[in-house]
Amino acid sequence: MTDITYLGEGSARPSEHEHLLEATFKTMGTAYGYDQVKVDYASYKEFKSTWQRLGRTVSFEISDYLGAARPEVLGDFAQALYERIEKRTPGCVYSPRLKAYLESDDFVLRNQATYVRRSRNLTRTALGRHFDLRETYRRLVDSGTVSPSKNVSLHWTKSGNRMRVGYCSVLMRVVAISSLLDNEKVPDFVHEYVLYHELLHLEDGLSDGRRHHTPEFKARERQHPRWKESEEWLRKLAARKVDLR
Ligand SMILES: [Zn+2]
Repeated sequence: MTDITYLGEGSARPSEHEHLLEATFKTMGTAYGYDQVKVDYASYKEFKSTWQRLGRTVSFEISDYLGAARPEVLGDFAQALYERIEKRTPGCVYSPRLKAYLESDDFVLRNQATYVRRSRNLTRTALGRHFDLRETYRRLVDSGTVSPSKNVSLHWTKSGNRMRVGYCSVLMRVVAISSLLDNEKVPDFVHEYVLYHELLHLEDGLSDGRRHHTPEFKARERQHPRWKESEEWLRKLAARKVDLR
């Protein structure tokens, strides 16, 4: 737990790990034919990394969510980036070891709170004005509608969006529901259905650029007992045909 607090307080990181990052990227850079390699951690909200290349010089900004990765995991990540820069692979191909780390409790528990803090539109709590998302989640699990989701963190958004009523980060195990649905005029099954939809994404795990709303996904979505009414409600909401005042 101390690690989470430590990261939550600011951008300070153990300098040992920064040395490791530098050594990893420099060594691999040499193998790929680069003369100069510059690399730093950056506190992006999303898990992303950027680079600039000029001739045989390259500089990286690496997501600080990797700030505690083991050397071999960091090595796999460096290799994935170099492969991509050299265009030997079309996307970013993660090794099974790297993927396993990104899906581990270690990774999620260390980074989730930071991710939520960086997500400016998320409240810090599952407890809304009218509905408690933890109760809704419990209901879905207890009724067998959805299987329990590990390390999931539930939130309402601060400002409500009519069109985008649910949001999730599969990587960070974070789900957020539009605060517009946290309203006594909205039947409780509507936000339950949206939460159900997002939990299905979490169940699917990290994708390799696959489509998210496949026919198979849609079929599972319709296993929610009130999907039809919910869809109807969400359409009305999007069309501003619901008075929420
Ligand atoms: Zn979706």
